[in-house]
Amino acid sequence: MGHVIAIDGPAGAGKSTIARGLAEKLGYIYIDSGAMYRAVAMWALSMDIAVDDPVKMEQLALAAEIEMLPGRRILLNGEDVSDRIRTAEIASAASRVAALGPVRRALVAKQREIGEKNNVVMEGRDIGTVVFPAARVKIFLDADPVERVRRRAAEQPDIAPGELATQIADRDRRDRQRAESPLVQAPDAVYLDSTALTAEQVEEEILKLVRARISNGKGAL
Ligand code: C5P
Repeated sequence: MGHVIAIDGPAGAGKSTIARGLAEKLGYIYIDSGAMYRAVAMWALSMDIAVDDPVKMEQLALAAEIEMLPGRRILLNGEDVSDRIRTAEIASAASRVAALGPVRRALVAKQREIGEKNNVVMEGRDIGTVVFPAARVKIFLDADPVERVRRRAAEQPDIAPGELATQIADRDRRDRQRAESPLVQAPDAVYLDSTALTAEQVEEEILKLVRARISNGKGAL
């Protein structure tokens, strides 16, 4: 197995920015596991399939060919869906799809396959708890809810902040309360609150852990 750095946490905590920055610094592959749930949800919506139908959704999750390319490009069955999966509608549908056990098992298998062959920084909700419980470095990245909404609002200026706050709160509640692999801090994960920190400061904190746990003082990290 390659080295895995697992970054979990709620929406808007800064996972993507941090995970991408770390991957670049370390020369690891960056994997956005949420993009997989989004891609499967988008495929279902485009075919008018109910996102809470476990049988049909499992078939889609198993059949989906998802490729992650540099620059945050995502291909679904060969088609570039990078921008289409970034809407609020897809985010919400993804969190419904993600509550289904069979879908999770199909996507977790794809995530493990990537981590088995490569050094990866993988972000999501269950990376340190379920996907890679033996990851060398596990971070639970959090931030104050007001700050998380502020960050998302900067990315999605077309949605009213009040509406965005409701959407994020609904999605987080669903992610934390579902029976299958809920969003929860792994017992051996390091909790980091990014509310008052810059991305560079968060990255530096994580790099300290990486140096301590992966290079053993011998490597060049
Ligand atoms: O991280 P992102 O906001 O793109 O994730 C979209 C949704 O996918 C999350 O709200 C969550 O329901 C689901 N997800 C998950 N497990 C992961 C990654 C994402 O359940 N590892």
